[in-house]
Amino acid sequence: MLKNNTDQLIALFSEFLRDTMNGILVFDGNDRIIFCNQSATSIYELTDSNDLLGKTFDQMVKHCHKSKTGIVIDTDDLNSWLEYANTKRRSKTYRRFEIDLHNGSWYLVSEQLVENNCIVMICTDITDKKNAENRLNEMSEELFILATTDSLTNTLNRRYFLEQAQVEKKRCQREKYGYALLMLDLDYFKSINDRYGHACGDLVLSSIANTLKVELRDYDLLGRMGGEEFAILLPNTTHQSALSIAQLIRKSVENQTIEYRGHQINVTISIGLSLDENADKGFDSLFLIADKLLYLAKQQGRNQVVADD
Ligand code: GH3
Ligand code: MG
Ligand code: MG
Repeated sequence: MLKNNTDQLIALFSEFLRDTMNGILVFDGNDRIIFCNQSATSIYELTDSNDLLGKTFDQMVKHCHKSKTGIVIDTDDLNSWLEYANTKRRSKTYRRFEIDLHNGSWYLVSEQLVENNCIVMICTDITDKKNAENRLNEMSEELFILATTDSLTNTLNRRYFLEQAQVEKKRCQREKYGYALLMLDLDYFKSINDRYGHACGDLVLSSIANTLKVELRDYDLLGRMGGEEFAILLPNTTHQSALSIAQLIRKSVENQTIEYRGHQINVTISIGLSLDENADKGFDSLFLIADKLLYLAKQQGRNQVVADD
């Protein structure tokens, strides 16, 4: 009676192991596959489990790598890859890791070290979860861009510029460098809107922003502070080099001609430049100074840089 039950149970389990959606493989102490079900066979993009039985772990890895089927083995140095994998393989009684397949699927693999140095490997399809995760990551990146970028000019928005400017200021303080803050405002911009329309004004704004980007270094910050006003933070700079960059920017804008429906449009900018030599001034006061100097540049006739001394 009891034996019957055991036999029944073994039969049931065998059927379950054969038919389950999870890929199941058993490797013996010499790393040869001694059991694999249909799902595991499909993971290797094979149809007959006999093609897997008797193969070693190394042979299957080499097969996948060479044929670019089954499991993705992403390496140019297969021997080192195998050497490393084999040091990991029986290092713990239980291991979990993720693998991806050439057909785009993802599996969570759990490996259990059992008697006689055998490994039972169970592979669970996590493709849907992985795709959802990737989509979520993409969405958070998109959300991050939306929350930090000005969509018209593709520069930092005011809030994010101020946040990043504080980070840069602290870094300059730690590294004992000065940094400069430039406040820029387009001259007589209203007249462009009035003469050619708002769409033209938008085109001018984005074109000017592109010109500014070209002149800046990768680690400079450029933000749109509102309307036709931009701010630039130049880290690791001196009075002289900040002034030359400001003049360079001013000239590039002056020399740029923007085409709009057959019209050739030229604009200029005024710049207020304030330097914090030791990065120890309050950020707000630096802003106020740059703003005042910008106002002075406007008063003195526009299309010029006014810097503190
Ligand atoms: P100033 O030389 O003194 O700076 O003169 P201005 O005409 O540039 O300055 P003002 O502040 O009088 O005008 C700024 C104009 O910028 C007014 C507003 O309609 C326009 N503006 C603000 N944001 C945008 C925008 O996103 N697109 C467009 N097309 N115009 C904008
Ligand atoms: Mg203006
Ligand atoms: Mg303005």
